[in-house]
Amino acid sequence: MADFHSELKSIAQPSKDGQGCKVFIETYGCQMNVYDSQAIDGLLDKDGFDRARDVFDADVILLNTCSVRELAEHKITSRVGEIRQQRVDADAPPAIIGICGCMAERLGIELQKGKNRVDLVVGVDNYDKLPGMLTHLMGKGKNQKRRHTATGHRTDAHYVAPPSVYPVNNSHLVTIHKGCDYKCTYCIVPYTRGPQTEKSPEAIVQEINTLVDSGAEEVTLLGQNVTAYHWQQELDFAALLESVAEIDGLKRIRFLTGHPKDMHKHTMDVIGGLDKVCPWLHLPIQSGSNAVLRRMKRLYKQDEYLNMVDYAKKVIPGVTFSTDIIVGFPGETEEDFQATLEVLRLVKYDQIFSFKYSVRPGVPAAKLNDNVSLDEKKRRLAEVIKLQDEIWLAEAEEQVGKTLEGIVESAAKHPKDSWRVRTANNRKFVVSNSHQGNGLKIGDSVSAKITGIASTTFLTGD
Ligand code: SF4
Repeated sequence: MADFHSELKSIAQPSKDGQGCKVFIETYGCQMNVYDSQAIDGLLDKDGFDRARDVFDADVILLNTCSVRELAEHKITSRVGEIRQQRVDADAPPAIIGICGCMAERLGIELQKGKNRVDLVVGVDNYDKLPGMLTHLMGKGKNQKRRHTATGHRTDAHYVAPPSVYPVNNSHLVTIHKGCDYKCTYCIVPYTRGPQTEKSPEAIVQEINTLVDSGAEEVTLLGQNVTAYHWQQELDFAALLESVAEIDGLKRIRFLTGHPKDMHKHTMDVIGGLDKVCPWLHLPIQSGSNAVLRRMKRLYKQDEYLNMVDYAKKVIPGVTFSTDIIVGFPGETEEDFQATLEVLRLVKYDQIFSFKYSVRPGVPAAKLNDNVSLDEKKRRLAEVIKLQDEIWLAEAEEQVGKTLEGIVESAAKHPKDSWRVRTANNRKFVVSNSHQGNGLKIGDSVSAKITGIASTTFLTGD
């Protein structure tokens, strides 16, 4: 079995050069970035860097960024200026500011130009270089470079977030692969995250064993397209789930995100047959229209998607679904849009993440005529959200009076002194701290009778 910690050491080259330097990491975007930030934290810790409390306490501020939407990138650029100004206002000395993640990969050296330029740009496959680059920047003399960039994809760069840097939480993230081999025409990910490369099954199992030894009971397997996981043509995602499910002490396995094309019948059979695998499938449909799906290059048709959902409902007890939807893709007609609404009515998702189409530079869809007006995109988005609200409310009302079971995952924002609990099939309910008599804590198993609903969260009587 591969020793991933020794692999990590060899690329991190610990030297304790960062002694005394405090680093603050702000994370944007998806859970892959959350995991990467934890891995960066682990790499810097090995080299003697300390964790800062906030941007004012830090010598180095790293923004781990997302490029999926233009707005997200604008926010980061403004955030750089905002941090600089906040530090000036607080009489704090200038800090080294770096951009990591997808935006670093997409824009590279461009981020070191202009008003809000940064000192450091590090793409998704170069985090092992961060300690050395920071050490160099901190000790810069007259003749040393004042700015550094490291981008470009490498297949050898798989990072492991050490368990000690996990926040107190109920689910531990484990990235199983990175990148994506598909080329959905609207998507920037294949360009920012590179081709799909897998972490070995041995490394994944060992990483989870380490987490379980540290007290973890639940993991979320992460990847751009986890259902396409394959290790040297020998072991697919279903077989990986079977291996992970054998880990003693591990109680629950979740995963994000699957591509509908790779959600095979045998994968669903395995999911339904393993008690530890949670019955919740996040399967982005994006559009219900075959014409739009073709232009998006999504590689499935509406009926194939619906057949897959029907099969999942048969073989995975209690399964629930969530999805992503884009409205107003170039050329989307009213008829195409109605086909998307029809899918919502048929599947009855628990949750959807819906967006107006917005072009990303350099992706194939940028060449298509974006002929759906902004007003029309807004109307369609509002209609999708309204329909989903109605569908969810009808489904949720059927749960009132039933007893749900779940695991305490975090303190609830409302009401005071209450906890948020997540069921295996990803439904959320709130219980008071005194629900089971002696007070609750994260990880406790709870059951409660549902009395009502507030948005996507169920309420209980106590
Ligand atoms: S499957 Fe498509 S949408 Fe998902 S990351 Fe890959 S290219 Fe992007």
